[in-house]
Amino acid sequence: MSLGRNRSGASGFMIVMQMQPVGSAIREINYDRTLIRNLIGRSADWRSDRFRGNLDRSSTRWLMASRHLLTGATRTLRACMPTASLHTTTCCSWQKFENERHFEPGEDILGRTWHGLTYDWRRWRRRYYEARKDAWKKRHPVAHMKYAPMDHEMWPHRAEITIIGGGLAGSSTAYWIKQRFRDEDFRVVVIENNDNFMEGTTMLSTGAVTAQFSIDEHIEMSLFTAEFLRHTGIHLHVLDSQPPDTHFLPKSYLHLATTEEQKKMLQDNWKRQVEKGARVTILSAEQLSERYPFMDFSDVLMGSLGIENEGVIDTWQVLAAIREKNITLGVHYIKGEVEGFEFNRRPDQNVMEEDGNIWEKELPTRVIGVTVRPQMSAASPRLIRSHLIVNAAGPWAGQVAEKCGIGKGDGILAVPVPIEPRKRQVFVVFAPGVPPDMPVLFDECGLRCTQMNIGNTYLISRIPTPDEDAKIDHKDMSIDYTEFTEKIFPVLVKRVPSFESAQIKSAYAGYEDFNTFDTAPIIGPHPTYTNVHMMCGFGSRSAMHSIAAARGYAEKILDGAYININLVGFLEDLKKKLLYFSKIYF
Ligand SMILES: Cc1cc2nc3c(=O)[nH]c(=O)nc-3n(C[C@H](O)[C@H](O)[C@H](O)COP(=O)(O)OP(=O)(O)OC[C@H]3O[C@@H](n4cnc5c(N)ncnc54)[C@H](O)[C@@H]3O)c2cc1C
Repeated sequence: MSLGRNRSGASGFMIVMQMQPVGSAIREINYDRTLIRNLIGRSADWRSDRFRGNLDRSSTRWLMASRHLLTGATRTLRACMPTASLHTTTCCSWQKFENERHFEPGEDILGRTWHGLTYDWRRWRRRYYEARKDAWKKRHPVAHMKYAPMDHEMWPHRAEITIIGGGLAGSSTAYWIKQRFRDEDFRVVVIENNDNFMEGTTMLSTGAVTAQFSIDEHIEMSLFTAEFLRHTGIHLHVLDSQPPDTHFLPKSYLHLATTEEQKKMLQDNWKRQVEKGARVTILSAEQLSERYPFMDFSDVLMGSLGIENEGVIDTWQVLAAIREKNITLGVHYIKGEVEGFEFNRRPDQNVMEEDGNIWEKELPTRVIGVTVRPQMSAASPRLIRSHLIVNAAGPWAGQVAEKCGIGKGDGILAVPVPIEPRKRQVFVVFAPGVPPDMPVLFDECGLRCTQMNIGNTYLISRIPTPDEDAKIDHKDMSIDYTEFTEKIFPVLVKRVPSFESAQIKSAYAGYEDFNTFDTAPIIGPHPTYTNVHMMCGFGSRSAMHSIAAARGYAEKILDGAYININLVGFLEDLKKKLLYFSKIYF
């Protein structure tokens, strides 16, 4: 059986059942491929005499006419359909949240559609040539022995997408990509540095999930995550095993305002949150006292309280469930540390050294892979070739980017990725006197008090002010108990007197991936190395935002547009940040 040209002309294919030598079948397929390339107008081969010689005069005319027709039709369509007209708008806000498509100006929508439609053809062609190579190898095993170890190794030597960091951000990215595109040829590899894994922020997170933010994207991401967590049993279910349990504890979050300025901000935020579909209510001091009589609101002007989609999760359980699901979807997790990046280089300029030697300087143009040191004894670093590399290394994202030359080169490469590991402390407190309906408390001084589980254990932390943060030694991970006794305890006892009898059970410190520029996440491609993408800088919000951000990111790279959550703002943010930094540096 072979694919042959339709007798009526070049307009289609028909299946021809006939016995013929393999060579001629291959020629026939190559011939048809040229025909298709001509039809879509991407090749100039049709002009050549060689090709024209294979066709009679009328077929050539037909080909030329159809090519012009197709090109003309495509151009007219593009001209008639400005990108804005492809936005679909709906009247209900929840529908808008679910269905709105966000296309960016200048996107080649038709080109993308064509790429999708012809994907099967290209895959078939690749498999065909691979099979042919295999058949050849079988006939000449000795000549091809050198390929064999590479092909049969468990350690991947190529991947479509390589993700650096297997925390919540990296694993969620792998999940949404693989869940959407399960083709076994499409390899997704997650590299996890086991030495850092226990220090990774996902392990140490207090697991707060709330939608009370002042930025649209943050609110949308929180709502999406809450919806996802509610359905983890469906999303992350693995065949023949129990649906995963994320230990979700529904809890309302209480934000308090004690000054007029804070009150105004709370009201503005509340309007924005309600507009986006979050269920949040505004309460006066009297209403708050009525609701929570065991708390002191004497200095409070106003409070905002979440009614739905808020609570506390066990981030380790969520991560474990996502990783398990990922493995069943075909994501390849490897234990190793990314040590460097491999580049395509082009000759740049001749450089003359002092001793008169002239050598040609090369300029890295594109990243082609990552060098990983496997975490096994006496293993040397190996290259994993990759089309796309996602930097989801959490607090170490800035350091990983540096290994790629970002922040070390000239021009835009002189601008570093502004992510730094910042030390944060959490105190585990046992407070038997506190009533169980105590909300998760966000005090205006940065104090955060979260109930750990249904018992009387609370996780208490405090976000330091920028001045305090600058003075902290972020490399010293020992616990500073004076923070609890001097800064946290007095404020907490004033607000909730029942904490008077509380005892510290333990305390721990972990790193937060802090964006030193504006504390917002950095999502999207680097302007110079466009196949190196960032997925970092979530700070103390990643547990509730990285799942949603990863979904948006997967939509962007697979569909070419944000469908559920519009993260264009963060992408634009990255560009703005780099421009801002470049103004400082140049
Ligand atoms: C104390 C604390 C409390 C928090 N509380 C909350 C909260 O209540 N709610 C909330 O939403 N968020 C919270 N967060 C934030 C949240 O936990 C994190 O932002 C989030 O888990 C980050 O996930 P990540 O995948 O980006 O990073 P990580 O989980 O840190 O993962 C990054 C991974 O990259 C790997 N890696 C690094 N360098 C390399 C390399 N060179 N090669 C290979 N691998 C590498 C590391 O091993 C690490 O495992 C808190 C954070 C802290 C520190």
